[in-house]
Amino acid sequence: MLDQIRIVLVGTSHTGNIGSVARAMKTMGLSKLVLVSPKELPDGQAYALSAGASDILANAQVVETLEQAISDCGLVVGTSARSRTLSWPMLEPRECGEKAVLEASQKPVALVFGRENNGLTNEELQMCNFHVCIPANPEYSSLNLAMAVQIIAYEVRVAFLAQQDKTPEADLTLYPDIDQMEKFYVHLEQTLSDTGFIIKQHPGIVMTRLRRLFARSRPDDQELNILRGILASIQRTTKS
Ligand code: SAH
Repeated sequence: MLDQIRIVLVGTSHTGNIGSVARAMKTMGLSKLVLVSPKELPDGQAYALSAGASDILANAQVVETLEQAISDCGLVVGTSARSRTLSWPMLEPRECGEKAVLEASQKPVALVFGRENNGLTNEELQMCNFHVCIPANPEYSSLNLAMAVQIIAYEVRVAFLAQQDKTPEADLTLYPDIDQMEKFYVHLEQTLSDTGFIIKQHPGIVMTRLRRLFARSRPDDQELNILRGILASIQRTTKS
């Protein structure tokens, strides 16, 4: 089940950090590492710092965009050291571990970490279902990348060990994956342009606000189907 939980590193600059992340992951039983456009691929420095976790580096998947790394995931949690202008649904690190373990039985889960110098972009953060911030010293809150991964991976391990003693939950809600959500946003934007609600030249922040609304309410599979049906019915009327 821990195989279903992947660590995604976006735009990492220092290969040594990639190696330390592999080590942090392996100590907690995680093995899937995805690198999104790293500045450099894992090198000798990365392998040296990974200690006995070179298998994780060797099997790391390298992709170009965050979307490629997470499109099949039902739950994506983005990490951030600071609060952003537009606040997003938040999880405590402990809740993040519990949710990741609970939902990994349904669909792959991604835990996303940003660049050493400037973290994740707003666009990247807005693709996530939730954000998690490790409650550090407010005057010095930015952890080293691998240490942030270690803390979140530890919470996943604690939740995994606790779950092993429990009987599985009978009917878990099924959530759409990121690819389905992104297609829904395209459909929504298209429909709102067709009705004239969004003016293509001046889209403003309507779509960002709507993304946040749906991130907050987190529609399940059936609800998303209803929303897609509503959009299709509006499009039929506006086009007739
Ligand atoms: N200067 C950057 C911080 C980058 S630290 C910024 O202001 O955003 C590199 C990465 O480590 C972050 O993108 C995040 O993924 C993780 N990280 C560091 N400190 C964290 C914290 N307190 N909570 C959650 N993630 C953190």
